[in-house]
Formats: sequence, C-alpha cells, structure tokens
Amino acid sequence: MPTNHQLRLYNSLGRRMEDFTPSGAVTGIYSCGPTVYAFPHLGNMRPYVFADTLRRAFRWRGVEVRHVVNITDVGHAVADSDTGEDKLEVAAARERRSVLDIAEFYTSAFFVDMAALNVMPADEYPRASGYVPEMIEFAAELEAKGFTYQLPSGLYFDTAKDPGYGELAQMNAEGQLEAARLEHVEGRRRKTDFALWRAEDPGQRRVLRWDSPWGWGAPGWHLECSVMSMALLGQHFDIHTGGIDHRELHHVNEIAQSQAYLADGRPWVRYWLHTEFLQLGEQKMAKSAGGAPRLADLTEAGYHPMAYRLFLLGSHYRSQLDFTPAAVEAAQATLRRLVARIQPLRPLPPVETLAAAQAMLAAGDPVAARLLDSIDAAIAADLSTPKILATLQDALRDPDITPGGQRIVVAAADALLGLSLATLESADLEHRRAPSELSDEELHAIEQLVADRTQARKERDWPRADQIRAELDELGVEVTDTPTGPVWQLR
Ligand code: AMP
Ligand code: ZN
Repeated sequence: MPTNHQLRLYNSLGRRMEDFTPSGAVTGIYSCGPTVYAFPHLGNMRPYVFADTLRRAFRWRGVEVRHVVNITDVGHAVADSDTGEDKLEVAAARERRSVLDIAEFYTSAFFVDMAALNVMPADEYPRASGYVPEMIEFAAELEAKGFTYQLPSGLYFDTAKDPGYGELAQMNAEGQLEAARLEHVEGRRRKTDFALWRAEDPGQRRVLRWDSPWGWGAPGWHLECSVMSMALLGQHFDIHTGGIDHRELHHVNEIAQSQAYLADGRPWVRYWLHTEFLQLGEQKMAKSAGGAPRLADLTEAGYHPMAYRLFLLGSHYRSQLDFTPAAVEAAQATLRRLVARIQPLRPLPPVETLAAAQAMLAAGDPVAARLLDSIDAAIAADLSTPKILATLQDALRDPDITPGGQRIVVAAADALLGLSLATLESADLEHRRAPSELSDEELHAIEQLVADRTQARKERDWPRADQIRAELDELGVEVTDTPTGPVWQLR
C-alpha cells in the first residue's frame, strides 16, 4: 500500500506550498500566544486549534516536536503602537486590579478554553515579563551591531539597515506599512522602524517598568517572541505560527531583528504558517473592540466545545471563516450523528500514528487500507482537515469495510482531528437551551413552579410536588434538589 505522502505546508515566506522535512531530531514550533488583558474570543482559539492539528500531524508521522506558546503579559501597547500604554496597564486601571492579577486571571481563562477544546498543552508557556533582562541584552546586541538609533521615546530598530526587510509581508520597495503604522513618532526615520525599547515619558511613570541602558521603560512588543523562542528552541528552529494579522507586521519585525542579531546569513525560521481570521459577519473579530463571543458563550447557549472544534476543522485553516450560531448548531448536529454511529464501535483502539494504524490493520481489508491512505494524504496536503472529516464519514458509510478496520480508521481520523470521538456521549451533545434564550414570561413561570414545588415539599404534599415536577419536565426543565435548595436547568 502506498504510504507516507510527503508532508507539504504552505509557507508564507515565499507564499508557496513546500515539502517539509525536519531539520533535526526535534522539530521546534513557536506559536505567538495570547495577550492576556481580556478574555480570549472565539477567533483567538483558531490559531491554537490549528497549531494543535500541526502537532497531531507530526505525532502521526512519528516526528518529535517541541512546542512553545508565549504569554504576552507585558510589552503589547494599545493599538500595536510603539509609544502608547501597555494593554495590561489599561486593563488593570479599568478593572481596578493589579497588572499581575489581570495577567493571571486571563492566562487561566485561556488555559480553560484550550483544555475544553482538547488542545494538547505546549511544552513551555514562557511569560514575557520573565524575560525582560534577556530582551535588554538582545536589544543591546543590536545596538552594538549598529542596527538601532535612540530617540527620547526609546530605542528603535533601523529598518533601512536591513535590505531584506518586509520579505514575509511581500512589502513594496518603499516598505511602507501605511495601514498598520499610522502613528506619528517624533524623530522616527522610517515608518517601518519599530521600538525595541519604549522609554518612559518623564513625569509619567509606567506601572510595568524596568531599568535599561536607554532609561526606565518597557520592551517593544516584537522583542519577546525573538528572545523567548531562541531561548527555548535554539537560535534557529523549523516553524513559527500565528494569526494572519501577524504576517504583515509582528512577524516581519521579529524576522528583521532576529536575523540582524544572528547575522549568520541564514533565514532565522524556515517555515511561517498563518491561520486566516474568523469573521463575525462582515467584521473582523477583535479582542480590543470587546463584546466578541467567547467559548463560554457557546457552552452557556448549549453547545459543546467539540462542536466548535468541529466547526473550525470543517474549513481549511487558510480560508476565512464566518462565525454564525447556525453553523455551530449544524456542527453540533453533525457531531451528534457521528457520535451516535461511533458509539457501537467502542472501545476504539489506541491509535496515534500512521505506523500503529497500519500495524493493527489486518490484511484483507482493502477498504480500510484505502481510507487510511486517504487520511494520510489529506493531512500531508497542508493539513486538510475537511478531507479527513469526509474520509471519516466514508468509513462510517462504506458497506465493505470490516468492523475492525472501521474502528482503526475512526481512531486514526480522531488522532488527527482531536474531537474525543472515543469518549464523547450523545447525551453531552443534546442541545440544551440557555436560560438567556427564555422570554421573561417563561422564566417567571418556571421560577414560580419551582417555588411552588419547594413549598409543596415543605408541606410534605408529595403528590403535588410530583405533579409540579411533571409540569416542569414538560417545559424541558430539570430540577435537582441540593443542600442549598433546588437548582434547575434546561434540557
Ligand atoms: P492576541 O491575544 O490578540 O495577541 O491574539 C492571539 C492570537 O489570535 C494571535 O495569533 C492572533 O493573530 C489571533 N487572532 C486574533 N483575532 C483573530 C480572529 N478573529 N480570527 C483568528 N485569529 C485571530
Ligand atoms: Zn509573537
């Protein structure tokens, strides 16, 4: 059977599909992580579900990976500017909490969502605030090499010194990122020059501040990713990932400063992979605008996190995707049908790699062998999760597949999809209505009935209590009696 299709990935550097072969025994992957000043929204989940798919693809092929995801708790100024306040400082003032509290709180919120979406934990989650001395050393080295100039507002990277500047963004010769760099910075030589160190204004003491050769202040936003990735993955590594917005600015600057720092004539990172955005109608879903839906909003509305994961995987990571409640509803219905078909096949065999799946497959099951090969071909073709989903459906429908082969193909598909198909229960996927979907009248009627039932129980009027429970049941309300009183939820 033909196996092991060559893994091909779309490299933003050069904008083309390329064969991927690891450069060493361990493939280093760095994913730009969250800025922890607000709850992550549904769009923020997409790059990490993508990075998880990438990791599953490597596991499938037996390639060892080291994955680093940073936590930006300092350095990211409002509107990605070079001179503004830190996003975390603004959030701390808004919520009247310390910056540390804000960072801890929203970092935990990010981890909760990652776990709910079955995203495998990274090997390291470095915090930017833990690497400021290393960032200062890095900037000092760039200064020593002549790549910087100093202004009262800080230390700037001189992009004129980098002939390859902007290659990733495929910038024009002028290299003017008009849209992203509208900010006026006094004395800045080129619009593309960016802050390595943001000096504190005299008389305006920052909350997050460090001493440096360029005065008190805070690091520029791009520095942390160069410094922490090199510290944890080595000077050069194979893959860097992030949302598509980073392709035009953040990653351009990471590359410029890293290659200037290393000065070894080699590209710093070989592959740059970018996830397209999740859109909300015609709008971009942005954390800074606030109000963007979160995973918790979906679960509160009765959707399972795996339904959202399926919704994401149903599109290729390089396609823009529109978020609509109807699409998530459809994903949940698809998942419910999938689970109903898979439940009788359980327990599924433990399959994480292509080699394991092939070793398990008995000779004489050509259908399963063909489907396994399709799965391998799909993941090798720039991680085509929609094709894997289609193959999974084929495996469940094909009349000629053996039950043993079917189990192996389903387990193999899920090793890459990560939908928990071995354990999800149909009951978890019933659509529960959220109390917020009820009208005021409905809510009032339910609460009245629950109170009447409590009263009947107090009076030991069991027939009446039972009758009210039946009425609530008809309305789709489940009551549970707890030591602190009854609680109810919608089915
Ligand atoms: P942030 O926490 O804002 O630094 O963003 C975390 C990650 O989410 C980054 O990789 C962003 O590129 C990505 N991102 C932000 N908004 C969206 C969106 N609407 N759709 C997909 N990815 C997004
Ligand atoms: Zn980054």
